[in-house]
Amino acid sequence: MSFDPASRVQDYLVFGEFGDVNPSITDSSTYTFLSPERMEELFEHEIEGCFLYSRHFNPTNKYLASALERMEDGEAAQVMASGMGAISTTLMTLCAAGDEIVCGRSIYGGTYALLKNLLPRFGVNTRFVDLCKPDAVRAAMSARTRVLYCESLSNPLLEVSDLPQLAAIAHAAGARLVVDNTFTPMILSPLRHGADVVVHSLTKFINGTSDCVAGCVVSTREFISRLNDINSGPSMLLGPVLDSTRAASILKNLHSLHIRLRQHGSNALHLATSLAALGYTVHYPGLETHPQHELLARLMNPGYGWGGVMTVDAGNHIAANRLMTLMQRDKVGYLAVSLGYFKTLFTTPGHSTSSEIPIAEREAAGLREGLIRFSIGLDADIAQTTERILVCLGEAGIYPGHRPGG
Ligand code: PLP
Repeated sequence: MSFDPASRVQDYLVFGEFGDVNPSITDSSTYTFLSPERMEELFEHEIEGCFLYSRHFNPTNKYLASALERMEDGEAAQVMASGMGAISTTLMTLCAAGDEIVCGRSIYGGTYALLKNLLPRFGVNTRFVDLCKPDAVRAAMSARTRVLYCESLSNPLLEVSDLPQLAAIAHAAGARLVVDNTFTPMILSPLRHGADVVVHSLTKFINGTSDCVAGCVVSTREFISRLNDINSGPSMLLGPVLDSTRAASILKNLHSLHIRLRQHGSNALHLATSLAALGYTVHYPGLETHPQHELLARLMNPGYGWGGVMTVDAGNHIAANRLMTLMQRDKVGYLAVSLGYFKTLFTTPGHSTSSEIPIAEREAAGLREGLIRFSIGLDADIAQTTERILVCLGEAGIYPGHRPGG
């Protein structure tokens, strides 16, 4: 049964106070009540359309949450001040001291640090496994495992998670499957493949303009109520609330996400195909040589491309640095972390976004120090960008199949 996330977002119409085509922005932290009884009632249970205090929910954040909930085919959603806010509050909703998490070994460095360094201080421990090995995942699950955690397309190795298989493993062990879908919004719909909770860093493709940090959680009504519960909900009590003016601008950007994804995807496919054809070591799920190309083809929603992120192995750290400096000089894009921007961004994850992961674990997972992660932009002429990159590769002394000495 095909599912079209872009149409779900497009059909979400909310009017402003005067029939404005964009919903009005709530500029209030608190809300008046016509009677004290009504306020008491709202403290006891949620009432549709009634707001109490903006740390709990505010109308503008609710509009963005509703659009994301439709995009992910969930029942309910909450938006947050960052992707890490979404991830940490989700895990704190699901786990208590003594519980365990099983997590893919190829994940964003901040998530790794949360699981490896911070959560153990509260009695929640994590086993990191190779998600491409289902037997290893099964073996890591114990009676204490509450969460199986993965990224739909992992950062930065671009491993595709077999979501139906992971959901089956999690559920057989009485755990929940939590999926970070930051790299593949609209392309993958994890809840439709059995996931229980989806989180996003909205900072990336969904917002697309690299002007703010934000996140979201999409799941069942019951889960979002637990997340927001005024007595025990991590979102309500830790307070990573998104500012309403940012929520309004992200909602506007969400409406062009499908078009941007197509352009990011076709540009990335062009560049990856061109470099791979010349013999460079390129990793991109749209290439037939990618080990999970067929899996992604089976799981993805058609029409949004294969994503905007690819990697090129420059051989070693020094060569990678030389190449990135030249690419910035030649206006290929910016030497910067993050992704999903309209310009190309590149970085060496081993020395930036994955530096929290110890070298031995990075190497065991295949994250080499010369690996450059590219988030391909919306370039109007990708053939010209490819030419510029080839000139930079030559000048940096990086040739196909040849590992430069540094
Ligand atoms: N998840 C993934 C896959 C990421 O790449 C990142 C950030 O780079 C995050 C989560 C964290 O998001 P944020 O920076 O919005 O907190």
